[in-house]
Amino acid sequence: MKIKCILGFHTWKGCKCTNCHKTRNEQHDWKSGNCLNCGKSNKREVIKGNINDRPIAIDPKSITYAFVVLCHEDNRYSDKLFGSIADFNRLNQPKLWNTHFNVKFISLLAEKGDSGYPSADSTIIALEHLGMEPHSSIVINIMLISLDGGKTETKIQNGFVFRDDNPRVFIVPRKDFIIPKEEKMQ
Ligand SMILES: [Zn+2]
Ligand SMILES: [Zn+2]
Repeated sequence: MKIKCILGFHTWKGCKCTNCHKTRNEQHDWKSGNCLNCGKSNKREVIKGNINDRPIAIDPKSITYAFVVLCHEDNRYSDKLFGSIADFNRLNQPKLWNTHFNVKFISLLAEKGDSGYPSADSTIIALEHLGMEPHSSIVINIMLISLDGGKTETKIQNGFVFRDDNPRVFIVPRKDFIIPKEEKMQ
């Protein structure tokens, strides 16, 4: 091992040191399913819980998509909810969505999971079809809302995708009942 490496001064080429072959968890080469340099898999770790309580820093500039997901049978609400994507994100992760930035807004349809909410697996597949980069993490907020002033409940997901060298899926169980304001629903 070179003395520079022992002292911690590696010669990084992407995620790997060209002298000692030590790897780091950044700047991977994600052209295929695994990193072409170090072989790390981009399979996403699933983490449940509120991301607002976690010490994860998300750079707003790394966010690529913001979305709502409905079950197939709620397709008729798709257009209606499209206009609320930013509002839902602001409600769920207020600090992060404090500023304005450019992301693609999308409304997706997914299979219904066991709990009656859209299935997270189905959401991930839909995002991959849309061209989500492999080194991306996904935040999925589970939401219970009403689209008819509180008469009936609709189970949806809302969230966003951000570029991340440590790809994860954050499933955030909100499940509080929300009646979106009418003027924002148009
Ligand atoms: Zn080294
Ligand atoms: Zn790598």
